[in-house]
Amino acid sequence: MGKHRVLILGGGFGGLYTARALSALGVTQTAEVTLVSRTPTFLFLPLLYEILTDEVADWHIAPPFEEVLPRNCRFVCGEVLGGEFQPRRYGVRVRCADGEQTLEADTLVLALGSVADDFGLPGVKAHTRPFRSLADAHALKRSLVEAVQHAAAVPRETVSLVVIGAGPSGVELAAVAADRLQSELRQAGLPPTRAHLHLVDRLPEILPQYASALRHLAHRELARRHIKLHLGVGVASCSSAGVELEDGTHIAARTIVWTAGSRPAPVLAEFPFVRDRRGRIPVSRTLEVPGFPGVYALGDIAASVAAPATAQVAVRQALVVAHNIAAAQQGAALREYHYEPLGEMMTLGRGCAAANILGVVFNGVAGYLTRRLVYLLAMPEPWHAARVGLSWLGQSLEETWQAWSAPVPTSAS
Ligand SMILES: Cc1cc2nc3c(=O)[nH]c(=O)nc-3n(C[C@H](O)[C@H](O)[C@H](O)COP(=O)(O)OP(=O)(O)OC[C@H]3O[C@@H](n4cnc5c(N)ncnc54)[C@H](O)[C@@H]3O)c2cc1C
Repeated sequence: MGKHRVLILGGGFGGLYTARALSALGVTQTAEVTLVSRTPTFLFLPLLYEILTDEVADWHIAPPFEEVLPRNCRFVCGEVLGGEFQPRRYGVRVRCADGEQTLEADTLVLALGSVADDFGLPGVKAHTRPFRSLADAHALKRSLVEAVQHAAAVPRETVSLVVIGAGPSGVELAAVAADRLQSELRQAGLPPTRAHLHLVDRLPEILPQYASALRHLAHRELARRHIKLHLGVGVASCSSAGVELEDGTHIAARTIVWTAGSRPAPVLAEFPFVRDRRGRIPVSRTLEVPGFPGVYALGDIAASVAAPATAQVAVRQALVVAHNIAAAQQGAALREYHYEPLGEMMTLGRGCAAANILGVVFNGVAGYLTRRLVYLLAMPEPWHAARVGLSWLGQSLEETWQAWSAPVPTSAS
């Protein structure tokens, strides 16, 4: 009999951390573990905002799988197309650079994450940008830089950015984008008033799921950056001229970023699973998919206990899935996943963040250092984390040196 085959679909927080935990539990000694993902690199999404301010480099947050996937796991770079299932034998169609193939599995782990959801609103798909990948972050940075260059060439031209969605992604993005714009305006010799930033949400409050202390800090930092809030009003449509709100307000803007909604990976429709009304796969507390023995789902695509779609949840679920795969092989009891929030963290601009760790709130530079430290510890591979930590240290020493050695402006200059 051949080795037991474990196939993991998706190389994000759920998929990669499941593979690493399987290796740590020794499952890779008796089973062949394969991870399939569409890009050759993992992406540490919580630090994506810092690409806009050049506070992180691509390699810090997007290490190649060959660095972070254990050597006893196989990596297949390809697009998952769908599944063909027979009882206890699962076949998954994958398109790779060298053509299409079917990968067979005895145990299947689904961790395909989510995509932006435009709720079918007119103009959203055509005129807004998503912010979910390295390419999205670089494209947005380029567009902000070009908008300031354009404003420098055209008298009285302003730079307008609208961020739709005032959840964590929208708030963090608005604060960081504001800092990037101000730094570009300074370099171009333009006044800060040339930039207009708007944050829109149909709910009456920002960050409804966060502790009130963090909400308060976020309000303060958004106000300091003159970000105009449009709360309690939905978006009616978007166009090349800007955003139309349901109350008739028009916000003129060239750059619109959509962070208002997400839905599970569309490829799930190509699998024979029941899905809930949001398109997620219902799972048991052991994260198994009912009716499909040996199939597990986790992260953003799993409708389990009332857990939010966060990296924190996906990583903890990965540990449960890996434990249960090992336990199922040994005939031992499976473990249940229970949601236990550990806290929240968010960037609120360059060098500024807020964190609520088990009820203790940090903000400003303390928040920034706490967030950086927690994310370093959460990175998938200790060697990678060590290199990133050293790089951040070098970067901050260089910035301190530059600030210290810069000529002091005199009153005459
Ligand atoms: C900008 C941003 C910032 C965030 N910040 C935070 C934060 O600060 N804290 C926090 O806890 N959470 C944060 N989140 C949410 C968090 O990143 C997600 O909840 C988490 O990544 C979910 O893990 P996952 O494994 O389900 O999906 P993902 O990590 O998204 O992984 C899914 C993987 O599947 C791959 N994939 C999808 N479809 C296919 C296909 N058809 N074929 C092949 N591969 C495919 C994707 O490329 C990806 O690698 C953030 C999300 C975003 C977008």
